[in-house]
Amino acid sequence: MTDQWFFEIGDGQTYGPFTMEKLRKWAAAGNLMPTHRVRRADSQEWTIAAYVPGLEITTADTTVARVADDDEDETRSKLGGIVAALSRKKGKVADSQDTDVVALCDELMEIAFERNASDIHIDPEENITLVQLRVDGVLETLRKLPKTIHNAIISRYKVLAKMDIAERRMAQDGRFFQCLGPQQRRIHIRAATLPTTHGERLTMRLLAVQTEQLTLSRLGMSEMATRTFAQYTAQKQGMILLSGPTGAGKSTTLYAALRHRMANHPGRFITVEDPVEFDIVGVAQIEVDSADKVSFDSVLRNILRSDPDVIMIGEIRDAASADVAIKAALTGHLVFSSIHTNSAAGVITRLIDMGLEPFQVAATVRLCIAQRLARKLCPECRKPRRLTAAEAAAVGRPDAANSTVYEPKGCPKCNGRGYKGRVGLFELLPIDEDLARKIVESGNEGDITRLAREKKIPGLRDDAAAKLIGGMTSFDEIIAVSAW
Ligand SMILES: [Zn+2]
Repeated sequence: MTDQWFFEIGDGQTYGPFTMEKLRKWAAAGNLMPTHRVRRADSQEWTIAAYVPGLEITTADTTVARVADDDEDETRSKLGGIVAALSRKKGKVADSQDTDVVALCDELMEIAFERNASDIHIDPEENITLVQLRVDGVLETLRKLPKTIHNAIISRYKVLAKMDIAERRMAQDGRFFQCLGPQQRRIHIRAATLPTTHGERLTMRLLAVQTEQLTLSRLGMSEMATRTFAQYTAQKQGMILLSGPTGAGKSTTLYAALRHRMANHPGRFITVEDPVEFDIVGVAQIEVDSADKVSFDSVLRNILRSDPDVIMIGEIRDAASADVAIKAALTGHLVFSSIHTNSAAGVITRLIDMGLEPFQVAATVRLCIAQRLARKLCPECRKPRRLTAAEAAAVGRPDAANSTVYEPKGCPKCNGRGYKGRVGLFELLPIDEDLARKIVESGNEGDITRLAREKKIPGLRDDAAAKLIGGMTSFDEIIAVSAW
């Protein structure tokens, strides 16, 4: 008889073959559950792991699994029934919660999707497993699960994300997709584990949840900003750069820009991303781990040879990627990218700090955009009030003192949060001749900003104030998300 084994955990896939020793190692680590099915490579017969001779499963539940003291059919393969049976005997998995781990994991995904969550966090605590969702940038608790099923849940997602389920002491990452919602939308999920003293934490990011928002008009840009943006995305060459902190929605805007350009000026499009967050039909998307600098730079150089019209680089992180981006922009390509700075003018300074010459920057950068995301007030329950003179001054609009603004209240429509969805706050800084000259002369962020304000180019704060006065968001929210 062979020492090669397959196993399955109820997701319709078979894993293996592995040696018994490997299976034992997984079992000892708590990753192979008593309820998983195992078969010898030379047999078609599946057996519940708990009943496989020699496979000592040492998780807490095993002892129970081995007490096959009643008339339960050993060949029974329904996970749910068995886990439930285990739980009943053990008395640890309280209440009548869905204890089928696979179904539970699927259900968590469905709920996250339904609530338009961007992230799912599964955190082990001392006695429970805490499941939280990030919705509109804010964490909320979804479930508190019995700690006894923590490992099973984590293992389920680790298998989906093709991680090594036996490795639980090192951080890992992976990705998978699931079809979610009534329309069975294909959602990409990036998963990362982190070992902690109470067990493994798992963070999953739902990457394509907001695809339907990927149009310029839905980003929340003012009409004037949309026109400017559309005009610049139609250019033949140069760079359009987005700035803002992590989580400010930069990639959403980049994708929207790309889609707008594709719809109006078809051509060859290539993206280099880390990771690919949304699938765009008609675009060659290359996923590069930007921590791997060698491959990132070489991929960037290679794509120039494949003659694209438009290149999107997920993020300019260092001198090497800045150098390739600027070369592309100087040689007849339109380059979209993002850069980690706080202000539109800061993009210029950052590129110069990375070692680019001010004249190169002035010659290639066409449009700098600063972006933040603010939570949108729930239109069903927002509460009107007067803006005080002090608040009006704080948002740079003393003229708006006494005008009606709104604050959050909370109703069933918004799950009591008072907010629903988010809106982008934008500053668009087109680099015209005057600004280009200023960049060459000084390149200083303060000088560039001053000139922009003299030219009456609205700043981030102006857009935030407009969205406050327009009733879209609250005073507290724009103060919280904006660095004045
Ligand atoms: Zn509401």
